[in-house]
Amino acid sequence: MHARNKPLADEVNLEHVAQTTAGFTGADLENLMNEAAISAAKDNRAYVNQDDITKSFIKVGIGTEKKSRIISDKEKKITAYHETGHAILFHLLPDVGPVYTISIIPTGLGAAGYTMPLPEKDEMFMTKSKMLQEIMVSLGGRIAEEIIFGDITTGASSDIKKATQMARRMVTRYGMSENIGVINYDDDDDEVFIGRDLAHAKKYSEEMQGKIDEEVKFIIDDCYGKAKAMILENMDVLHASSELLLQKEKITREEFEALFVQNA
Ligand code: ZN
Repeated sequence: MHARNKPLADEVNLEHVAQTTAGFTGADLENLMNEAAISAAKDNRAYVNQDDITKSFIKVGIGTEKKSRIISDKEKKITAYHETGHAILFHLLPDVGPVYTISIIPTGLGAAGYTMPLPEKDEMFMTKSKMLQEIMVSLGGRIAEEIIFGDITTGASSDIKKATQMARRMVTRYGMSENIGVINYDDDDDEVFIGRDLAHAKKYSEEMQGKIDEEVKFIIDDCYGKAKAMILENMDVLHASSELLLQKEKITREEFEALFVQNA
């Protein structure tokens, strides 16, 4: 909706923008697109490209960090470990990342911190391995909390949602599960139509629904196990990065990557 008055380059993936801006208000989105238009204008371009949007996302989405909120030391510590969990996986997995910045300063969007990868190249397709790696990255925060505190918080709910949606799409939309096969079971194609649920008839059996759910759970569990093993192999970095974050609140790619050398 907020892209309507700005000419967009064909390469701009609005679905991706919508995913990364989940939780933005209308005003946030408007702000994002205005920033992108300014960025295009600075470049003497008549249209907005993906790079403008990515840059503006960094500026608008996480630029509104709220230093004023008072956060307990315990919460800060949990956030530092949580974000480092994401960051370690971004760093180690080949098709995602590298880490651009890690912060434990709360954002205007209600997140306790964030881990930002470098803006991605515009790619036409997502591969299965990249999707699995993104699921692993999403689970990394929760895994770090579990390893360090033996307890888990509600802070990972959007990560879990993201991982689950990705796994479900792999199974129902992209035919990436051998057990389910190359069949579309995704009934969200027509989600733009209001009242869809009323007219909506299930296209497949409850038995198949059960199989799909099992397969989604299998993907998540498998990613969780693999991601946990990778974090456990890098406990020194997990501690060092979290301590650095607690000192500085925000660390750069260089600072983070140096920890892998120091703790090798
Ligand atoms: Zn997280």
